Amino acid sequence: MLEVREVSAGYGSDVVLHECSLTVGAGEVVALIGANGAGKSTLVKSISGLLTLRRGEITLDGTRVDGLTPRERLERGIVHVPEGRQVFAGLSVAENLALGAHAVHESRDRGFVERCIAQSCEYFPALLDRLGEPAGNLSGGQQQMLAIARGLMSRPRYLLLDEPSLGLAPLLVSETFRLIARLSQSGISILLSEQNARQSLAVSDRAYVLELGRITLEGRSKAILDSGDVSEKYLGGS
Ligand code: ATP
Repeated sequence: MLEVREVSAGYGSDVVLHECSLTVGAGEVVALIGANGAGKSTLVKSISGLLTLRRGEITLDGTRVDGLTPRERLERGIVHVPEGRQVFAGLSVAENLALGAHAVHESRDRGFVERCIAQSCEYFPALLDRLGEPAGNLSGGQQQMLAIARGLMSRPRYLLLDEPSLGLAPLLVSETFRLIARLSQSGISILLSEQNARQSLAVSDRAYVLELGRITLEGRSKAILDSGDVSEKYLGGS
């Protein structure tokens, strides 16, 4: 289990997160929903180690990881797919993917990297056809798929997906949520940070609502979806 306990974090003198606690159990999909600027990315960065905690602790299967570097956390299976894709536009699709493998495995073994690419691309057949092309040639949706595929290259146990549906056309948004369900079925535990509350709740087991850096609600996703009050407040009353 991945456990975040009373974490406070921020930038410079600004404290953005105030004593946030959450858990992601083995095999779970957990949604972290909240408006633009609520602090979702800050929380995800705190878990992957891109941001140092001011207070609190993070444990993986009971062992503290908050003192570890991002790379050490990656080696323990905590993989962060950042908001905004951040693929290397000038490198080929295959090179982008290989970077995901090298992040964990020093191995220069090309066969190993090729096997990882084949496995990651089982979820994204469209990428297989374009391995030699610059990543910058891909559409926004395909770049998002590439960012997730690159994350899969390091064989995550806990996948932190930061706003994977942001900026995608509605059809691709639905495809992204279907992919999350498939990844979960393959045994990967997922923390899904999203503004798209309705679809995140539909695909997740449990959810946390983040408002102004505080967790203000947590529960089973279905219960949150079914609750009238909550629907009014977080789902635009729709
Ligand atoms: P978004 O969907 O916009 O990413 P979010 O819920 O992920 O929203 P964060 O990106 O975590 O929110 O931002 C939370 C707060 O922290 C905002 O007030 C934002 O301005 C601030 N913030 C984010 N990144 C930085 C940074 N690098 N330096 C200073 N302040 C930052």
